[in-house]
Amino acid sequence: MPEENKILVILDLDETLIHATRNPLYENWDFELFNYKIFIRPHLHVFLSFLKDNFDVAVWSSASDDYVTKVVEEIFPDDYGLKFVWGRTKCTYKPDYSKAEEIGYFDYYSHFEYIKILKKVTKKFPYTKEQILIIDDTPRKAMYNFGNAIYPSEFNGDKNDNELELLVNYLETFKDISNVRTIEKRNWRDVLK
Ligand SMILES: [Mg+2]
Repeated sequence: MPEENKILVILDLDETLIHATRNPLYENWDFELFNYKIFIRPHLHVFLSFLKDNFDVAVWSSASDDYVTKVVEEIFPDDYGLKFVWGRTKCTYKPDYSKAEEIGYFDYYSHFEYIKILKKVTKKFPYTKEQILIIDDTPRKAMYNFGNAIYPSEFNGDKNDNELELLVNYLETFKDISNVRTIEKRNWRDVLK
């Protein structure tokens, strides 16, 4: 496939590739950053090299920009060639009415969330909506582009987690296709059975 037709995979960080916490459930975190203990999700190395060989790759997290830059420096090889690294300032700040429904009122101070809108990517980079996959543990972050999203389980620091290995197998399906949106992704683990 010619270089310019590669699928772009946009990766979330927290609970997708790493787990950062002040109160770890497990021992042996991998590194510390801004007073957080950070666990790297098992099989990250295999996952990242598989992606590099088959896709274009970028990072987009709703965490603060400086945190995102530092985490990326820690977990990606220097020559990895990420197409972009975006943090919170590229997200869109939206009211989250579902939280208000839970408690019965809307609180202007806490019921907002940062979401990722793909149009920002297609405006700036030469990919169409059909050529972009988002991998994010939080479905609401990709609520306007669910046809592009794959939702892994939340990583909480468990060393036995094998989600990234499963994702490598699943992503084989997407290597040579022209429209990622035609593939149903909601029950992606079932395809592996
Ligand atoms: Mg996340």
